[in-house]
Formats: sequence, structure tokens, C-alpha cells
Amino acid sequence: MNKWVYAFPEGDGKNKKLLGGKGANLCEMTQIGLNVPPGFVITTEACLNYLKSPSEGLPAEVMGQVREQMRLLEQVTGKGFDDADNPLLVSVRSGSAISMPGMMDTILNLGLNSRTLKGEIAQTGDARFGYDAYRRFIQLFGKVAMGVSDELFDAEFALVKESARVTEDVGLSADNLQEVCERFLELFHSHTGRPFPENPYEQLELSIKAVFNSWMGKRAVDYRHEFKITPDMANGTAVNVCTMVFGNRGNDSATGVAFTRNPGTGENRLFGEYLVNAQGEDVVAGIRTPKPIDKMDQEMPEMARQLAELRDRLEAHYREVQDFEFTIERGTLYCLQTRNGKMNAPGMVRSSVEMAAEGLIDREQALLRINPLYLEQMLYPQLDRNVHALPVAQGLPASPGAAVGQAVFDADRAEHFGRVLGVKVILVREETKPEDIHGFFAAQGILTSRGGKTSHAAVVARGMGKPCVAGAEGIHVDVQKREAYVSGQLIREGDVITIDGSNGNVYFGAIPTVEPEFTRELNTLLQWADEVAYLRVMANADTPEDAARALKFGARGIGLCRTERMFNAVDRLPVVIEMIVAETPEQRQHALDRLLPIQRSDFRKLFETMSPLPVTIRLLDPPIHEFLPGEEQLKDEIDKLHHLKDSVQGLAVLSGSLMMLSQKNKADAKIPEMVDVSLIEEALETKILMLRKVRDLNEVNPMLGHRGVRLGITYPEIYRMQVRAVLEAEAECAAKGIEVHPQIMVPQVCSAQELKWVRRYMDEIKASVEEKTGQQLNCRFGTMIEVVRACMRAESLTHEADFFSFGTNDLTQATFSFSREDAENKFLPMYNQNEILRDNPFEVLDEKGVGKLMQLAIQWGRAHKPDLSVGICGEHGGHPASIDFCQRAGLNYVSCSAPRVPVARLAAAHALLNNR
Ligand code: PEP
Ligand code: MG
Repeated sequence: MNKWVYAFPEGDGKNKKLLGGKGANLCEMTQIGLNVPPGFVITTEACLNYLKSPSEGLPAEVMGQVREQMRLLEQVTGKGFDDADNPLLVSVRSGSAISMPGMMDTILNLGLNSRTLKGEIAQTGDARFGYDAYRRFIQLFGKVAMGVSDELFDAEFALVKESARVTEDVGLSADNLQEVCERFLELFHSHTGRPFPENPYEQLELSIKAVFNSWMGKRAVDYRHEFKITPDMANGTAVNVCTMVFGNRGNDSATGVAFTRNPGTGENRLFGEYLVNAQGEDVVAGIRTPKPIDKMDQEMPEMARQLAELRDRLEAHYREVQDFEFTIERGTLYCLQTRNGKMNAPGMVRSSVEMAAEGLIDREQALLRINPLYLEQMLYPQLDRNVHALPVAQGLPASPGAAVGQAVFDADRAEHFGRVLGVKVILVREETKPEDIHGFFAAQGILTSRGGKTSHAAVVARGMGKPCVAGAEGIHVDVQKREAYVSGQLIREGDVITIDGSNGNVYFGAIPTVEPEFTRELNTLLQWADEVAYLRVMANADTPEDAARALKFGARGIGLCRTERMFNAVDRLPVVIEMIVAETPEQRQHALDRLLPIQRSDFRKLFETMSPLPVTIRLLDPPIHEFLPGEEQLKDEIDKLHHLKDSVQGLAVLSGSLMMLSQKNKADAKIPEMVDVSLIEEALETKILMLRKVRDLNEVNPMLGHRGVRLGITYPEIYRMQVRAVLEAEAECAAKGIEVHPQIMVPQVCSAQELKWVRRYMDEIKASVEEKTGQQLNCRFGTMIEVVRACMRAESLTHEADFFSFGTNDLTQATFSFSREDAENKFLPMYNQNEILRDNPFEVLDEKGVGKLMQLAIQWGRAHKPDLSVGICGEHGGHPASIDFCQRAGLNYVSCSAPRVPVARLAAAHALLNNR
């Protein structure tokens, strides 16, 4: 017989795949002696088994084991399921191996029916409590198990509140709540076509099935898709059945959620919220605004002490920040759930550093518990402090970072605007629910007018690293009219607003944002990462400003400086164009002579900024026609100049006629000042020359055309100027005693002969600069490997090159024969959707194809030069999974854009630790 069900004292707390995260933790907490209400877990295997043919219902064996467990629960609690005098009530919750907040559903107070309700009231002596529990159960069961919409129940509830003239739920009397129950039962009947089930086992079976079915519900499927949760990671949901404990049994009862440390800042202090005399869902759903946990000290000192003890025991056991739910029932504290806390990046970083300092974890664990991609959050924009805008509303700072976007008032509109139209949006809601998840994905940030820091909006936004302001009570949202009111003003759909999730402020309009500062803890953590890592992390940076930023982010050199970006600057482009359109070598040399000092100064500033770290300069790569305007544009400009010339000549005729007329009529006619036609003719001549050049240089396939080293060979004067600029800049630095390590790198190489060609004149220029300056130069010479043939000829390339740098952007295009723009705009999304290719190979390095070529090139290159230094400077150099591959393939360094450097540093440490 299969075992489908485990009691909390017997389940293996490490087996999250089988018991789900929540179930495994309930078992583990029970087994380490924490006060967990008794219960059991129905396994994910039971779920998968059921989902094979849901129409056949739950296998008899599963329900048989459930009944057996219910009997055990009856024994430990001394209560009876369906016992009218002393009823046992349970909660039913989902829980898969990976926590999916708000994705699946919960049913509370199961076991209530018309008879047990009376028993519950008699037992507690509290009719209000009984009806309150019953109405919650009817609504949750109706919604989760039978699909009756929440809004319908909420509308009935609001009607009773209105007729009782109360605004808060707590203001309702027992009679009012009894009326709510009656209305709910009727609603249930009319919408499902059947009366509310009285038999608790039927309630239980329907609920278990509903939770199982929710695994395949749209919300859960979307969530798994968005977060790439594969069946390997989580397959099916478990169901947790747990004895009910009540936080709404009076003022000595409460319910709350807490983090063992502050999930926003990482501060080592209990963080959370609670509500006295309330049931758990009230806190999570944001229905009532809860109190901060700090207040508990005054209100319930003994409970606050026990809670602090619970916090310590949880952290000491799990060695990880925990996010837990608790309930206090008449002075007894129960822990209902715990899981690893989802924190934002600053919280993760600070808690990592502090937990390591406290000895709770070691440095390796401190590094490994943070997903490197997560660090990007710490590089989120913040509002520019120099801009003094007045907030129009304030809520709770629920997830940090600033976001600007157009207000939208429901998730579907957010999806339409954000995903389909590509507009930046802020999702503005009264409160969010799990079904709003697609709106979160599409939005820059979330703003709610109700709920606390542990409301659905706050938890989900934090998990996604999106800014969120919650509980901004000054905002009144009218979803129907697609508008909101704040401080007497209207926000219409599409109006731009700014939210600051770090302090809870909301502004009209777009407030400028600035880059954030590195925290001390992040620096510490990344230093630990650097100490552990083997791969050196460098940056792709083209200007001294980029380089300074890269340094701030901890880059240990520049792995790629694309010199064409320097050519494009406004002060040089005219000279570059002059060089391109030159008709004779002398004319070209004249332009190059003007470019040389500019480039030399560019390089010198870069070297000085990075001293003493290496700086890799790539010689010109793109086809030179990219610096010229397009053919159509030029034709258009030429047409216009022709017209202008005609008009000016026409004006000259007019001017002559007017002069004659004025003499005849003796009138005082004003003669307009004429434009000099020769100026127009000069401009025309230049444009016509450019057009001819553009046509001469036109290529059918520029990506595979006259670019990179091919330019260096056909227009040697361009490369010679660049090489000279690098070497003279090195000499200038050396003369000033500044230690620099320049490296020249040649793009698009496919043969050793090409490299030999460039190396020859590099050697010659080096000798001449050394002679002229008296400085000894150490500039190294290397090649990019971005052409398939270069991989195949790696060994012979090492005869010329001191280092290799894989240009995986081009190498990926060349390996797949995909042009990136065409692939990403046309067929690649479909390839990914249908898993013809699992990832976009331009984002995630294709190990099997591109990676294989890299491995061969490294193997053959090092066969001749064992100490050959090898790096990567394509975009993959900043992607953690690709960095892991680089470690395995034996690279020495990765180079990526500056903001990715912190991510790459941590990923490099992970790569070493995970491949030991
Ligand atoms: C590359 O091809 O990977 C590379 C770094 O060069 P670029 O992106 O400039 O073509
Ligand atoms: Mg390239």
C-alpha cells in the first residue's frame, strides 16, 4: 500500500518535494518541539496521482488514510470531527516544494455545519465567535472549493454592515454575523445549485481536491512559468490539514506574521505585524491594518517574550531568516507555519553578513544564500534627493526602490499597457489578491490603499524586487471609473505617478531618479566573494565615466573598450566622417592626424582612471559606413538642398524685380537679405560625395562584411592611428609614473595571418614610440574569438596572441547562423515557447554549441601556450549561469557591463563553490 499521508511527528522535514515546503516545515517544527497544532500532510505524490484523472475523484486509499489521521487528531485533541458537542475544526492549506506566496488557496474552520456550529458556540460560550468562524468558512470554502467569487460574498457582507451601520468588522454583533451566515448559505446554494455540504468528510474531500486542482489553475501555472519553476524543482502541491487554533477568541488572542529579521533592511530584529482578536487571514489579506510587532511588548508582554524565544529557536534551527505565522489562542502561542524569508536584496545582503558575524552561518553559506541576479535590485534607481517634490499621499514602505509609470487600476489593464503596449505602469489597487499576479509582472511598481507590510501586495512585490507602497489610505480607488482620488485631486488611468517604496511616498508626475549607493554590507559581501572566486571580473566600459562606475562596482579591469563608441561622440564624428569620405591617402591621413590626439587623450584618461588595473582596447570593429548617414536620409537631404537652392535663386529674381518696381513707383520697398547660394552648393557637394561613398561601401550583409580586422588590413592607417594612440598614452602615463597595463585586442579574427599583419605594425609602432619617448612599453596583444574559424584555428592564433577574449555575442550569431535582431524579433520567442530552444542563446550562453566551441578553442590554444589567458566579453559575461560555465571551461576572467559587475562577482564566487 502506498503511503499518501504523514502525521506531523512522522514526516521527513527535509523532504520538501514530497511534503511541500510548508508541510515539511510543520513536521520539522513539531519534531524539534515547537508548539505546532497537531495535523498531517497529504503528499505531492497523491496530488500528481489524482491529477492524472481528476474526474475519477480522490483514490479511496488516500481518503482512507486521511480518515485514519483524522481519528488520530481526534484522539490528541480530545475533540470529534462532526461532534456536535465538542467539534474538531481544521484548516486545509496548500504547499508545494517551492514557496509560491498567495498562489494556492487556504480554507479555515472546516468541520463547521449547522450542528457543530451550535456545539462550538456552546463550548466557547461566544455566539459572535461561532458565527464569525462559520461565515469565514462558508466564504473560503465557497470560493476555493466551489468557485463562488469573493466579490459576491463581500457584497453581502457590506450590505449587513451597512444596515447595522458599522464600518469595522469588529463592530458587528452575533446577530449581524448570523445574518451574514444565512445570506452566505443562500448565496452558496443559488450559485452552486446545491446546499452547503453538512458532512465534514465531504467538506474535507472537496477541499483537498480543490487544493490539488489549484496546482493546475491559471495563477499557479503563470507563476511557475514566470519564475521558471520546473517539475524538477516543484511538482504538485501537498495539502496540510491542521487543527484550528483561534486568534479571535478575545483580547488574550491574536494572530500575526513575522520575519526573524527585517526583510527590507536585514536588521537583526523581529519584524512583523499582529492583530488582537483576529484570524490569520485578516493580516495577510490586508483587510484590517495591523499593529507593528514592537507594540506587543506593552500589550501582551509575556507573549512578546515567548515570540522572541520562538524567533531565536527558529533561526538557530534553520540557520536562515524565517518568515513565520503565529496565533495566540487565549494566552497560548502556536507556530502555524515557517519558511525561509523572502527578503529584498539589501535585506539578504545585510543578514548574510551579520549572520556570518554571529556565527550562525559561515562565509560560504553567506555567499551562497543569495542569488546573484538578486543584487541587481540594489542597483535600483532611487528618487533624486535634490528634487523637492511634495508627496500627495503616504503609505507604508513595503518594498524599496522608486518607480515611475502611468497609473492603471486593474491587473488586466496593467498587463495590456505594460506587456502589449510596452508602457511603464504602476498598478494602483485598493488591495491586491493572488489573481492580480499578471499585473505585478507587467508593472514597474505597486501602490495599494489598504493593507500592511505583510499584505499580499507587499509580500509579492518584495519577492519580485519591485517597489511597492502599501496602505496609502489617502487614496480612493474607483476601479469602475478607472480613476482614483487623492487630496481632492483626480488620478486618471494613464496619468503618470511616482512611488517610493523606500519611504512610502506617492507623487504626481515623474520624479527624476538617481543611482543608489553601495552599502557597507554589500561591499563586505562582495569582498568575500572576490576572496573565494577564481574568475576575475572585469567591465566593458568605453569612457572614463563608465570606467569610474565600473571601479565603484568593483571591476578589476576593463575587459572590453569598444573604441567605436568614442568615434561617435559629437566632437569627433565630423572628423571620422572626413576620414571615411577621404578620396586620397593624404586626405585620410589629415583626418587621422586630427583624431590621434583625441584618441590618445581618451586612452590616457581611461588608463589613469583604472591604474594599475588592465585596460583592454579593442580596435575598430563596425563597418565604417555605420558612421555615415543612411542612403535614404542623404537622398532626402540632397533633394531639400536642391529645393533650397532653387528657392534662393528664385528669391534673387524676386529681389531684382522688386528693385525695378521700387524705382518705377518710387516706393520704399524693402529688399530681403539673400542667402549665399555658394554655401548651399558646398553643402550639396559634401552630401553628394557622402552618398556616393555610402553606395560604394554598401554591403549585402554587413554583419559578415567589411568590418573588424578586415578593416585593419584594408585601411591600415586607421588601426595604425589607434595602436599609436594606445602606445603613446601608455608612454605618457609611464612618464608620469602611473602604472598602467594596456592590452590591444583585434576583433573578428579568423586566421593567424590577419593577426600577424596587425602585430607587425604594432611592433613597429611600439619600437618607434619607445625610441621617441624613451619609455619601455608593455602593452599586450590579443584577439577576440568571435568567429567559428578562430575557434578551429585557436592553436595557431596563440603564436601571435597573448590572450583570447570570447566575443560570445558574435560567436553565438555565427554558431547558430542567427542574426540577433531578426531572431529575437521573429522566431526566437516561438522557439523558446515550444522549447525548441530552452533559453534565448543571446542571454544564456548555449553550452552545448557555443560552449563546446569555446572548450575546443581553450584546449587547442593552451596546447601550445599553457598559460594562455582567456576571458569572455560578450553579454554572457554578466550572466550567472554562463559564468558558472566559464568557471567549468577554465576561463580566467569575465567582462560585463558595469551594473552587472556586482552580480558577476557574486556569481564568480558561486561558480567556484558550486564546482569544487
Ligand atoms: C561580442 O561579439 O561578443 C562582442 C563583445 O563584440 P560586440 O558585441 O561589440 O560585437
Ligand atoms: Mg563582436
